[in-house]
Amino acid sequence: MLNVLRRVWRLGRERSVEGFVFGRPLVVLQSDDWGRVGVPDREGWDRLRNSGVNLGERSYDFYSLETAEDVEALVSLLNRHRDSTGRPACLGMNFIMANVDFAKVSADNFRQIHLRTLADGLPEGWNRPGLFQAYQQGISAGVLSPALHGTTHFCRAAAERHLNDAGERGELLRTLWNAGVPYIHWRMPWIGFEYSDPGHNGREAFLSSETQAGMIVDAVKTFTRLFSKPPRSACAPGYRANKSTHHAWAKCGIQVAQNGPGGSMPPHFETNSNSDSAANSVLHLYRTVDFEPSAGQEFSVKACVRMAEDSFARGVPAIISVHSINFHSTLKDFRSRTLRLLDEFLTALESKYPDLLYVRDQDLYDLVTKGTFESAHSTVKVAVTKRTFNATAVAEAERA
Ligand SMILES: [Zn+2]
Repeated sequence: MLNVLRRVWRLGRERSVEGFVFGRPLVVLQSDDWGRVGVPDREGWDRLRNSGVNLGERSYDFYSLETAEDVEALVSLLNRHRDSTGRPACLGMNFIMANVDFAKVSADNFRQIHLRTLADGLPEGWNRPGLFQAYQQGISAGVLSPALHGTTHFCRAAAERHLNDAGERGELLRTLWNAGVPYIHWRMPWIGFEYSDPGHNGREAFLSSETQAGMIVDAVKTFTRLFSKPPRSACAPGYRANKSTHHAWAKCGIQVAQNGPGGSMPPHFETNSNSDSAANSVLHLYRTVDFEPSAGQEFSVKACVRMAEDSFARGVPAIISVHSINFHSTLKDFRSRTLRLLDEFLTALESKYPDLLYVRDQDLYDLVTKGTFESAHSTVKVAVTKRTFNATAVAEAERA
């Protein structure tokens, strides 16, 4: 009986997907949380500790914000790595388009959230000389490719509910905001993710289609103002996206939806619900390699190479997830170790797969729709075929 039940349950979760298979090993680097501030500096760190926040317990306590030097060091490493066509490795950077305007919120007595868009600069008290130029230089060199993460990483409705509350949560939030720190997620998961509200009772729910659409239109506007081009790829904060998110992205011209690891899904278009042709026009990509050295000492380049080999063996791109914290150096030098390990990782892949290609999300979209993509000096052709995969639809939201 139990077996039958288990089988029924499995059948419910397994589905066949018309996915794409590629004739060459493709490497995609996807990176979240760029432009989002954390703990500003040592002074901010000390201030928070003096206010009773016991910083230093987990890696994300050391999350700050990249500096111009962090970005330049990354750009220089990527530029040294070339694929079989001579194209450099390229990192897709998912940007958070606004930060909390802490001074304004405080002047308003914590009644509501005020934001400062990245196009208008960093919030008061935050100082990162040359950072925006460093982004631009990397983009011009073709080694950085900006994409959309969201406007805020946290759910604004959830944060606003706690902003004024007299209890422990409100107190922690106000302590952080007074120190110029928006949140530290592991200490306060109740602030949720941009499109997903954890709710009063811990039962997570997506925001309405209209609310999400409005947020996404605003985010795309800011993105376009900052980068002079609209985004073609997006990744929802916490990987919390539903049909409404995909629909709103598609309406804004976004062609690629980045999904978290898990589920071993090949790149594919959703075709299950014919009613929403906009959402169905978005190409779904799933990360296949977790490259997160900041998470701990047990990180292994060898294990990452094996995961990339698994992807190639299945004919799907190796889609590497590496969050921005790995390149930070302000509060703790994560950058040096990450760059050394990333260098080792890319070198291993290049020597094992002399025909590999470094591609961006939008190149994959072009490949599956046209069979070619444009590189700086040439048009690159890759054989793409459709194959039915028996993919396990693990809800990507289960692993954020
Ligand atoms: Zn994120």
